[in-house]
Amino acid sequence: MKRVVVIGGGVAGIAAATALAQAGLTVEIYEKRPLLGGRASSFIERETGERLDVCQHGTMRCCTNLADLLERLGVHDCIRYFDVIEFLDSAGRRSAIAGCGLPAPLHTSLSFLAFRSLGLRDKIAIARGMLAMVRAKPEPGYETLDIGTWFRRQRQTERAIRRFWEPVLVSACNEDLSRISCAHAFKIFRDGFLMHPRAYHFGIPRVPLGTLYTEPTQRFLQRRGGSVHLRAIVERAHLEEGRIAGITLASGRLVTADAFVSALPFDLLLKLLPPEATRGVPYFENLRRIEFSPIIGVHLWFDRPIDCPHAVALLDRPTDWIFNKTLNFDLPPGSGAYLSMVISADRELTARTNREILEQVIADVHAALPQTRSAVLLKSQVLKERKATFSPMPGVESLRPDQRSPIENLYVAGEWTRTGWPSTMESAARSGYLAAERLLEDAGRSERFLAPDLAPQGLARLLDGYRAALRRA
Ligand SMILES: Cc1cc2nc3c(=O)[nH]c(=O)nc-3n(C[C@H](O)[C@H](O)[C@H](O)COP(=O)(O)OP(=O)(O)OC[C@H]3O[C@@H](n4cnc5c(N)ncnc54)[C@H](O)[C@@H]3O)c2cc1C
Repeated sequence: MKRVVVIGGGVAGIAAATALAQAGLTVEIYEKRPLLGGRASSFIERETGERLDVCQHGTMRCCTNLADLLERLGVHDCIRYFDVIEFLDSAGRRSAIAGCGLPAPLHTSLSFLAFRSLGLRDKIAIARGMLAMVRAKPEPGYETLDIGTWFRRQRQTERAIRRFWEPVLVSACNEDLSRISCAHAFKIFRDGFLMHPRAYHFGIPRVPLGTLYTEPTQRFLQRRGGSVHLRAIVERAHLEEGRIAGITLASGRLVTADAFVSALPFDLLLKLLPPEATRGVPYFENLRRIEFSPIIGVHLWFDRPIDCPHAVALLDRPTDWIFNKTLNFDLPPGSGAYLSMVISADRELTARTNREILEQVIADVHAALPQTRSAVLLKSQVLKERKATFSPMPGVESLRPDQRSPIENLYVAGEWTRTGWPSTMESAARSGYLAAERLLEDAGRSERFLAPDLAPQGLARLLDGYRAALRRA
């Protein structure tokens, strides 16, 4: 086994390619766009040549494989981590989740007690809910039950749901509560907020996503004898005797290799393969039952500086987040304000026109940041991604495939493959590492790339031990 072709240069493809190159294989990435990063990337603005992110992305310290990948590429310092997550409600009250020095899982409890958008009854309900999540016996039933139903069974208050559970989960899972499985929701709170005192730290890129991924990956692969082919559209995969014999590019060129890693979204993987290779094969048929969920990204440029934190979650409004790109990119403050807004899983808003979306977002920004009302809006951009993420619906885990496909020399990466994580850059990085592990295993080499999770700390260690005992029982 010498030459590997990776189809698709998103985070999953980059993770697979870098791991395999590190293991000594010659790796080529074929990516249809001019920049790497896939859904977590930028486009090149025609008039200015500037790299603009398709949509703001964030990460957390619990995303250990994404961090590992960025370390590998030498760009982890391009992520700035914050130990405070800010919230702003419709009455203008600011609250925050912040650490207080107590051991996990109590490390954010003081900020939670001071959370101004919630009343005492809500906080008691949330504390009860958190405890129930931590103590929940790991069982398959949680993969098929939706978290909205579970919250009702746990007698969560309407305000606790609307102002706490929903904003966190809809942002992390990009789905309505009625379409998020308990297994995914529990994972977000356990791994992200309860087990380790730094797990919730919120990471925001200091550079455009295209810059974070493109040149560092090119340099990494070139130094190891590999290459990245941009603007290279892979049109078809050819099967011979149960193996991929080669792929054809839109240019007509045939590319051969010893093994192939598809790092495409699942609907495109199905289009790439000949229908007879997928029809009736459960591994591929299951993919037809996975659904997508949309995200809207809006960029606004104002003529003057605006007082806005690096990132703030808006409660009670269609717009979920405002990111201050002027601060995040260390742009000169005199140059005005560049703000990016994110709206997750809002199918109704996604169906509206860009003008209507813009009006809604501007209304939310005016309400949240009153200074913007008197500022001149110089430029705006609305970007809708209808297929932003796979939907973490009850039952989806049984549809997500392993990274080893039934086709002999085809391995499959992509955030939608079986990683246990919702659709995130972390899941994509994990999938790429797992695909590389499977490929090397089949070549008789046992190498591990997957980075360990943050180890539970403080009292959370005891709770983790309790859960492990339940699993064994
Ligand atoms: C708007 C939006 C906001 C998001 N926000 C966050 C966030 O804040 N935090 C987070 O962790 N995650 C976020 N996500 C999810 C995250 O971006 C994805 O889960 C992750 O990037 C998926 O990576 P991937 O490599 O598996 O797939 P992709 O990124 O889809 O990669 C597939 C690649 O294949 C390429 N390709 C497609 N067809 C071909 C072809 N025929 N030939 C060659 N190449 C091809 C594509 O151009 C792409 O580069 C967001 C997603 C979106 C869309």
